[in-house]
Amino acid sequence: MKLYDLTIHQSHELLKKGEVSSIELTKAVLERISQAEEKLHAIVTVTEELALRQAEQADERIRSGDSTPLTGIPALLKDNMCTKGIRTTCSSRMLENFVPPYNATVVEKLEDAGVVIVGKGNMDEFAMGSSNEHSAFFITHNPWDLGRVPGGSSGGPAAAVATGETIYALGSDTGGSIRQPAGFCSIVGLKPTYGRVSRYGLVAFASSLDQIGPLTKDVTDSALVMNVIAGYDPRDSTSVNYPVPDYTRALIPDLKGLKLGIPREYFVEGMQKGVEEVMRTAIAKLEELGATVDWEASLPSTKYALAAYYIIAPSEAMANLARYDGVKYGYSHDGENMWDAMEKTRQFGFGPEVKRRIILGTYALSAGYYDAYYLKAQKVRTLIMQEFQQAFEHYDALITPTSPTVPFKIGQKVDDPLQMYLSDVCTLPINIGGIPGLVVPAGFCDGLPVGMQILGKPFSEETLLRIGYAYEQATGWGQQRPRV
Ligand code: GLN
Repeated sequence: MKLYDLTIHQSHELLKKGEVSSIELTKAVLERISQAEEKLHAIVTVTEELALRQAEQADERIRSGDSTPLTGIPALLKDNMCTKGIRTTCSSRMLENFVPPYNATVVEKLEDAGVVIVGKGNMDEFAMGSSNEHSAFFITHNPWDLGRVPGGSSGGPAAAVATGETIYALGSDTGGSIRQPAGFCSIVGLKPTYGRVSRYGLVAFASSLDQIGPLTKDVTDSALVMNVIAGYDPRDSTSVNYPVPDYTRALIPDLKGLKLGIPREYFVEGMQKGVEEVMRTAIAKLEELGATVDWEASLPSTKYALAAYYIIAPSEAMANLARYDGVKYGYSHDGENMWDAMEKTRQFGFGPEVKRRIILGTYALSAGYYDAYYLKAQKVRTLIMQEFQQAFEHYDALITPTSPTVPFKIGQKVDDPLQMYLSDVCTLPINIGGIPGLVVPAGFCDGLPVGMQILGKPFSEETLLRIGYAYEQATGWGQQRPRV
């Protein structure tokens, strides 16, 4: 096995025993980046110098016996998390030259744990998209088929993890941006409960939905990263002060006593046959592992989730993006006067999808339309939350597909926003409900990855990790690596 294909826990074992150094591991990953990037285009900024410096410090720390499970292990951060002194672009012209003066809380926490940062991952501009085709810089390719999308918006980080351009990554998820690319790249992605991980220093898209989480090669790694990044942060007013467990204790390989529901609304019309087959086989496996499965679960308001999301998310985005005026924030374009300069700044600084969201949000919040759109969407949101709450009175978790299809071809949906939006039908409701969702590799359909999504009530990440772990140990789907 190549060093860059190691998981966090495998790397940690080797580092601890002194069989490999962080410098060696880091160099293997950096070399993998220089070899694979030409085809993958997953990384906006490679931070080689910083990585080697951090690796050296980590080796010292390991020698002195004061290491953590993450010490000395390379990580890639989605390029919407502020990194002090390192360009943070959100894959947008608007922030192309933005160098934050501070670290996001998650970055601080990783640094305290001894992280080695290898770079910043490509994304759809400002995290708006499902394919990475909306990056202002370049399109990331799916490592399983370079002609297909890696998913989005955390497509760069997900493709990089699958390919070994990093050992793990952090992504953000507003409507599926961790889970859908994890499913498309055959890795593990966790969107934690809203409020579980601090959003301080995450460039805001839709603040009531955004959440940071791990993209990893297996479920154990997901638990290890959660142990470090979860927890209360007074700098994020929506962060919840709720004890952080040791997530690795949830990793037991059977599902005895667990009740799982399969909500029929998630097996949507138009779902790819092969994806449904993979899901049915996966669910049968969960039963074999000791869970009881109810195929009659139902969340009837699911059908309104997409519409509600595309009112709520653009409304919040429109407000969050108002700050990019070229004066206080963002790239600035010259103009004849202040208004002209501001208009040109926003005209050239933002790409077409970001503009579409700003226009949608402005419309939904405008006088006379607010009640008809925004208020109604908020009511739907309450309904969806209540339905989840009721479902979790009966079930320990819900099992669904991650996406209705396998990764689609580059160019297939980019000119049809509605088709693009529809690819998120299975992931959006989870953000609206504020609940956690874990995606694990569930197999392949015509050689392309399919992900299984596991949902639970707020702060039930341990249950999700347990189910994911038991399934992973029994099937080993995630152990396959793409050849790039
Ligand atoms: N694809 C969804 C969107 O475009 C979700 C993106 C995300 O989770 N950041 O809004």
